[in-house]
Amino acid sequence: MKKRIGLLYGGKSAEHEVSLSTARAVTQALNFNEYDVFPIYITQEGEWRKGNQLVAPIDTIEQLQFENTTNQSLPNNISSFLPSHQEIDEESLDVIFPLLHGPNGEDGTVQGLLEVLNLPYIGNGVLASSAGMDKVVMKQLFTIAGLKQVPYVHFIRREWRNDQSFWLGKIEKELAWPLFVKPANLGSSVGISKASNQEELIEAVDLALKYDRKIVIEQGINAREIEMGVLGNDTPKCSVPGEIKPLKAFYDYQAKYKDGNTAMIIPAVVSKEVEATLQDNAMKAFKVLDCSGLVRADFFVTENDEVLINEVNTLPGFTPFSMFPLLWQHTGVNYSELIDQLIELAIERHTEKQ
Ligand code: ATP
Ligand code: MG
Ligand code: MG
Ligand code: MG
Repeated sequence: MKKRIGLLYGGKSAEHEVSLSTARAVTQALNFNEYDVFPIYITQEGEWRKGNQLVAPIDTIEQLQFENTTNQSLPNNISSFLPSHQEIDEESLDVIFPLLHGPNGEDGTVQGLLEVLNLPYIGNGVLASSAGMDKVVMKQLFTIAGLKQVPYVHFIRREWRNDQSFWLGKIEKELAWPLFVKPANLGSSVGISKASNQEELIEAVDLALKYDRKIVIEQGINAREIEMGVLGNDTPKCSVPGEIKPLKAFYDYQAKYKDGNTAMIIPAVVSKEVEATLQDNAMKAFKVLDCSGLVRADFFVTENDEVLINEVNTLPGFTPFSMFPLLWQHTGVNYSELIDQLIELAIERHTEKQ
């Protein structure tokens, strides 16, 4: 019998646009002899649309107009979604594939909704998703797992506003320039900037505060950027390593999705020892966050072959040209097989939970 896959895409996050290209690619890769696909589109305003409102998902995606801004203040209107099972068909969906990035997507909120609805879904559960979305919580868990990281300072908006000079002093004392300023809860480099002096730092914090009330300031590191894919549930497997070579100052949103201004080298050329450390650290990160399904773990590797973990992404970029699918391609799992495996893993996880 055909499996019924609900593709959940779009969303209110700044990464809306990325989600649309992913949904398009996954739709094209799913074998229609094995799967029936039910698109569920979340607009930038948080309106859930499905079924008849999305007759031709791929064309519709291309025609959709949206602005690259966040509308998180608006409530999600899921009323058109909740009774959906009767409407889509009398049976429920077999698996939901949440192709949503950023807040309200890969941060555990949608995962929680799917748990409440008792629907199997691809990827990480509530805990791993939310811990992986918050760069501060993630770093604290990495420390518990014994993983090396760059030095960092973090604060919330109110702390910064109340005593900016305290924080500037602390940052100057504990970190060395240049710094990377990041909203704690985002991805795709949105809201991230590099600061080389105090003036730039203040500007960077102002920008990051537009996206989040919690900010991370990291010491900048001059190192290679290597990423690992992890796939599985209780017995995960690691991909070969892949290197990113940004042709710009850093791997920002524009370089990632607009210009294609980045080279990916897969497999990355690293020593056996470094590869073993990367695999070990990626597994430890997967375990400490209690991940399931998939994770892309991002590392810095210094000139002296020191390995530092930067972050994990619990719902990594998933177009056929994104790092995670390419890592698996080079490890012997092509895009369609990868989706098949993720669907199986989602069902396995759901069954074992019962
Ligand atoms: P994504 O989830 O798409 O990987 P993100 O928004 O979670 O991105 P990071 O991966 O933390 O952000 O950072 C984005 C990019 O900025 C990195 O790939 C790297 O090029 C650069 N960068 C981030 N932190 C540092 C740092 N401490 N030192 C040097 N470069 C950094
Ligand atoms: Mg990230
Ligand atoms: Mg991300
Ligand atoms: Mg990253």
